[in-house]
Amino acid sequence: MTFSFTSEQQTFLDAVRRFADLRVAPRAAEMDASDEYPRELVAEAAALGLMGACVSKQHGGGGRDYVTYAAAIEIVSAASATLAVILTVNNSLVAETIEQFGSALHHETWLGPLARGQAIGAFALSEADAGSDAANQQTVARLDDRGYVINGRKIWVANATVADVVIVFAATQPDTRGRGISAFLVPLDAKGLTRVPSPESLGVRGLGCVDLELGDVHVDADALLGEPGRGFRVAMRALEGGRIAIAAQALGVGQAALEEALRYARTRHAFGQPIGNFQAIQFQLSDIATELSAARMLTWKAADTRDRAPRVSLEAAMAKLQASEAAHRAADRAMQILASAGYRRGSLVERLFRDVRAAEIYQGTSEVQRMIIAEHLLAD
Ligand SMILES: Cc1cc2nc3c(=O)[nH]c(=O)nc-3n(C[C@H](O)[C@H](O)[C@H](O)COP(=O)(O)OP(=O)(O)OC[C@H]3O[C@@H](n4cnc5c(N)ncnc54)[C@H](O)[C@@H]3O)c2cc1C
Repeated sequence: MTFSFTSEQQTFLDAVRRFADLRVAPRAAEMDASDEYPRELVAEAAALGLMGACVSKQHGGGGRDYVTYAAAIEIVSAASATLAVILTVNNSLVAETIEQFGSALHHETWLGPLARGQAIGAFALSEADAGSDAANQQTVARLDDRGYVINGRKIWVANATVADVVIVFAATQPDTRGRGISAFLVPLDAKGLTRVPSPESLGVRGLGCVDLELGDVHVDADALLGEPGRGFRVAMRALEGGRIAIAAQALGVGQAALEEALRYARTRHAFGQPIGNFQAIQFQLSDIATELSAARMLTWKAADTRDRAPRVSLEAAMAKLQASEAAHRAADRAMQILASAGYRRGSLVERLFRDVRAAEIYQGTSEVQRMIIAEHLLAD
């Protein structure tokens, strides 16, 4: 077991840090205020190899290990949680899923462009009545002589304002829940597919989230990703990688909160001295740093396991649960340390406080992660 990066990994992470500090951080506040998808930054991230970091080189990706990817996502997220989420969707939920379950045609048509950033991917699992209960899919795909006809509505589809392709989950055997769901690769310009604006969100603004209305969308049979009726398995596998990436994304926000709290503790004076001299402040800083460090170890352990083992659902659930809750506490404590300076609209901590909250919700709430962990514990 080693706890250091190789020089090759470090060189890549240094380049990611330069990009995050020089290009992303200065744009983060504007992205949050405008709620606009950062197309230009996504293209720059792609040039760095951040759109298909762990996709094999043979398919146009970076061929990187998951620990390096997780470390890179954390660095980007410390500058902008929004850009980090955009990258995790394209990498973990879409490109890696196509690499794992896709046919040679899918690899040729979509994987290379997605991994190189020439195309953008989205993942449409959630529906109005299928959030935590994702098996309750009401979107239906009916087989006909030309392929499948898909009808339904997906909600909260990140990247979808600009995406070229979306993985759509739909019931091919309605009312059989997880046993009768299939996954499809659907181009966003398919006839009958409409983007519907969704309500504005509290944080991670600029994600390009919209609802997708599917009205008699025709796809060929070769649009099936994986086997018919086994799409729920495809979704769950995708979410294993996705949850590790979200753990890393949450850590980035937590780390940014720690750095801002440290800066303020050194510079803000009260009672004739820096507030960092007060033990009440010091203990909060200590707790933030320790909890983030512990969560980072869990995240990197999950990432390392993903490189070695076929399944990583337990490790991914633990990492996401721990990192998202530690990061939430970090942002909350940072707000307390900055007090009114943090509570001010437009302050960095105010944005971090809003951004961090989503990590306990998307790709499975904290309650869902606890359910997965308990299922593993009780099965042993
Ligand atoms: C910013 C953002 C981006 C998103 N992007 C995407 C995306 O790109 N693609 C996509 O498909 N989805 C996306 N989502 C949707 C997200 O995955 C869902 O919101 C999430 O899975 C939770 O579902 P829900 O909101 O319907 O909550 P619900 O499932 O309605 O849950 C409500 C509450 O009940 C709890 N609960 C539910 N069941 C149980 C149970 N059995 N035991 C205990 N507690 C339970 C939940 O934990 C939660 O606290 C996104 C969401 C957000 C906020």
